[in-house]
Amino acid sequence: MRQRRVFVLLLLALLLGVALALDVGQLFSFEQLKAQHAALTAWHAQQPFTVAALYFALYVLATALSVPGATVITLAGGAVFGLGWGLLLVSFASTLGATLAFLASRFVLRDWVQSRFGHRLKAIHAGVDKEGAYYLLTLRLIPVVPFFLINLLMGLTRMKTRTYYAVSQLGMLPGTAVIVNAGTQLAQLDSAQGIFSPALLGSLLLLAVFPWFAKRGVAAIRQRQVYARWASVKPKKFDRNLIVIGAGAAGLVTAYIAAAVKAKVTLIEAHKMGGDCLNYGCVPSKALIKSAKLAHQMQHGARYGLIDTPPDFSFKALMQRVHAIIAAVAPHDSLERYTALGVEVLQGHGQLVNPWTVEVKLNNGEVQRLTARSIVIAAGARPVVPQLPGLQDVGYVTSDTLWDTLAQLEELPRRIVVLGGGPIGCELSQSFARLGAQVTQIEMADRLLLREDAEVSQHVREALQADGVRVLTSHQALRCERQGAEKMLVTVAQGKAQELAIAFDLLVCAVGREARLQGYGLEDIGVPTHRTVETNAYLQTLYPNIFAAGDVAGPYQFTHTAAHQAWFAAVNALFGDFKSFKVDDRAIPSATFVDPEVARVGLNEQEAAAQGVAYEVTRYGLDELDRALADSEAHGFVKVLTVPGKDQILGVTIVGAHAADVLAEYVLAMKHGLGLNKILGTVHTYPTMAEANKYVAGEWKRAHAPQKLLMWLEKFHHWRRG
Ligand SMILES: Cc1cc2nc3c(=O)[nH]c(=O)nc-3n(C[C@H](O)[C@H](O)[C@H](O)COP(=O)(O)OP(=O)(O)OC[C@H]3O[C@@H](n4cnc5c(N)ncnc54)[C@H](O)[C@@H]3O)c2cc1C
Repeated sequence: MRQRRVFVLLLLALLLGVALALDVGQLFSFEQLKAQHAALTAWHAQQPFTVAALYFALYVLATALSVPGATVITLAGGAVFGLGWGLLLVSFASTLGATLAFLASRFVLRDWVQSRFGHRLKAIHAGVDKEGAYYLLTLRLIPVVPFFLINLLMGLTRMKTRTYYAVSQLGMLPGTAVIVNAGTQLAQLDSAQGIFSPALLGSLLLLAVFPWFAKRGVAAIRQRQVYARWASVKPKKFDRNLIVIGAGAAGLVTAYIAAAVKAKVTLIEAHKMGGDCLNYGCVPSKALIKSAKLAHQMQHGARYGLIDTPPDFSFKALMQRVHAIIAAVAPHDSLERYTALGVEVLQGHGQLVNPWTVEVKLNNGEVQRLTARSIVIAAGARPVVPQLPGLQDVGYVTSDTLWDTLAQLEELPRRIVVLGGGPIGCELSQSFARLGAQVTQIEMADRLLLREDAEVSQHVREALQADGVRVLTSHQALRCERQGAEKMLVTVAQGKAQELAIAFDLLVCAVGREARLQGYGLEDIGVPTHRTVETNAYLQTLYPNIFAAGDVAGPYQFTHTAAHQAWFAAVNALFGDFKSFKVDDRAIPSATFVDPEVARVGLNEQEAAAQGVAYEVTRYGLDELDRALADSEAHGFVKVLTVPGKDQILGVTIVGAHAADVLAEYVLAMKHGLGLNKILGTVHTYPTMAEANKYVAGEWKRAHAPQKLLMWLEKFHHWRRG
């Protein structure tokens, strides 16, 4: 690649050198054109096609090499071919030449510029990603920045070549038409500069800013329509900058950012500070998983050279530990901490009254009405309860009630049915089985973890079964019933007529979670919802001053995505009138904390296939990794999807011990456009699970080794041996 780059650079330098030596600039001078006008016109009359082809080629070459004089060549086009043909030839030749110059700059310079100044170019790249086409159009419409400079600079950005071509062709058309037309009047022109009078430049400027004004105008009209019904109740002044409804991950981070930038912000929480993650989700489930893992390791002590020992424990004490961990984390999300940070925290139920007003029914019975310029909805999600006949009668738990229910028990229920084969269902099933319960896990689909590749599902199924979970996939739950003192779940396997009744002491419903959309005014003020609150890329709802973040906004249901979205919601809510940011969801990681863990970022094979994305797979088996062997965790794999023939990462799936931690390197790589070569060139600590990342990169490198070069090297070494 480097050699090719040097070759292209030398070729360009040579061509430019020849052009300068021949004094091509003089050839393209206005005086020269005027002097040669008659001869050129006569030649064109004799050989119209040859002259047009030569002119086209010359134009492309001159622009591709960034030789000065584009205006004069364009004038010549008008003078020789007339307005119609002249415009056609110049329009295509100039765009083609510009695109070649753009590509040459990209090929020769971009990587070098990126590696040197990458961190400083971030803002420029973000600007170009967001509104690059518009900036380019403006630059093309107003010919005040030299043509060749635009080509060279835009080549250094991430703009797509086809966008560059299309916008250039369109944007240069008016200016080109003006110059070609001037060329048809060559005899009357005194100089090339005379073409662009201040009046003409002014009208081109107007043309350039028109799309911007049109865009803003349409947005303003839409806003007026949306807010029209609330015009009479819009407060003249707001008593807060921001109101946040819900103090889970999304709401807490939103409020934190607002307070950090000195906005007046009120955070409203109806139940527990910290939301699902702290109280019913990540924290208690990971605490339970840890205890269950230790119990499992004791049971299999012989794998570590110890003695298999059935764990002796009090379930009450185990659950006390879970709740103690919630209590230990709770201060991070507490009312006291947020108040100290400058957030006003109100404990009560928030209800949207209009786009700027929230009514809060405080837990002490008081009612307050607050107004703010912006509102962020961070109301989260709740567990889905399946519509099963008899369910209410037999009783069940969801993630909302599980932890308190278990805390009251002396013993773990002996027979547990877990309904649902998603991440939560799998984590809970394995933990309960490891703690000694007889667990049956029911899933309607034909495999667990349906969003992962089939081999991952199989791996997890085998791990769960090895721990004693009875996994019933392709099984539909039909109803619950009592048979004497027994509580039963009745299911049927797909394609079978025979029903299966499973007795249980505890039924856990883990069939998914749905965004909380009712009961706090969304429907009253007409905020559109589907499965989540509908938002645009800036997290704005129908009302541009009302935002949504976290599980309520979707599409993800993770704590880290809730916190990620919160940054965008807070910044856009407070500063969006000046500058808004689209949510960047290019590299979103996820993990299921079964043992072995499953972690993923970007595409897996089934998603790539569904989206028609071409990919190559590189794998590395953890059964070969030193650290995995030392830890008796030598199972699982790292699977990397890359663009065919390139080291660019499309997605990574890891199944193995500490997969969620090991994944972090790929999240960083994908976010910042680093490929497998960069991972291979990075020193990894020995012996760690993270070394697997280097080894998988090594596998990729081996598969893409330059075979011909290696053959020659072999010959070279043979010759050196004498
Ligand atoms: C068992 C389980 C395990 C999980 N494990 C993980 C994991 O390992 N990793 C991970 O990333 N994610 C995990 N999750 C998901 C994670 O908990 C959620 O994605 C995260 O909590 C979403 O945060 P949020 O702020 O959007 O919503 P929530 O945390 O649900 O917070 C919303 C808050 O809004 C409040 N609220 C709602 N309406 C009102 C109102 N009108 N007025 C006032 N307050 C209101 C609610 O009371 C709630 O406290 C798990 C979830 C569960 C259930």
